[in-house]
Amino acid sequence: MTRPAAFLDRDGVINLDRGYVHRWEDFEFVPGAVDAMRRLEAAGYALVVVTNQSGVARGLYGERELELLGEQLRAHLADAGVHLAAIEYCPHLPQASVAAYAVACDCRKPAPGMILRAARALQLDLARSVLFGDKQSDIEAARRAGVGRSFLLATDGVADPTGERPDHLALADAVDALLGGTARPHGSAANAAPAFDGLSSRE
Ligand SMILES: [Mg+2]
Ligand SMILES: [Zn+2]
Repeated sequence: MTRPAAFLDRDGVINLDRGYVHRWEDFEFVPGAVDAMRRLEAAGYALVVVTNQSGVARGLYGERELELLGEQLRAHLADAGVHLAAIEYCPHLPQASVAAYAVACDCRKPAPGMILRAARALQLDLARSVLFGDKQSDIEAARRAGVGRSFLLATDGVADPTGERPDHLALADAVDALLGGTARPHGSAANAAPAFDGLSSRE
């Protein structure tokens, strides 16, 4: 157990949560998310996506589509110089319509199974790891797994006055706080991070 990880919820944290996103055409990054992932990786965190995907159990899409989307995400990030150490997903949901997935599993957050699975496979140091999520179930999964620190974000990085008060709005803001970077407005010309060209339309 050596390397710390940054566990990242997907929908609402990495990409806009449009509801059961399962095609690359519908996958739009939360502003600043790719750069925030790059900064986490540069700081020594293995990047691990942990995502509940009950759309599989609901019959909305299959694991193949989910895995294809994962490959597209990996490829896009690789082009941006960002490496995902793992993508863990939970396709289950008790009482859902697809019988094979209608089980009470140990991986659907708030259960810690996805985090623990990645920790075993990648030899991660959970106590030094961090998690970023936009739901209390994300935070609870981190707590149960023994992840040292977690950040509750606003879904899609957008404040919701009726919702729970997040620790930070977007992943980029939380990463600023974690790494001690100077707070800066998105897209600021004073951006102190390394230059990042060519992907802004998709990020
Ligand atoms: Mg989410
Ligand atoms: Zn599961």
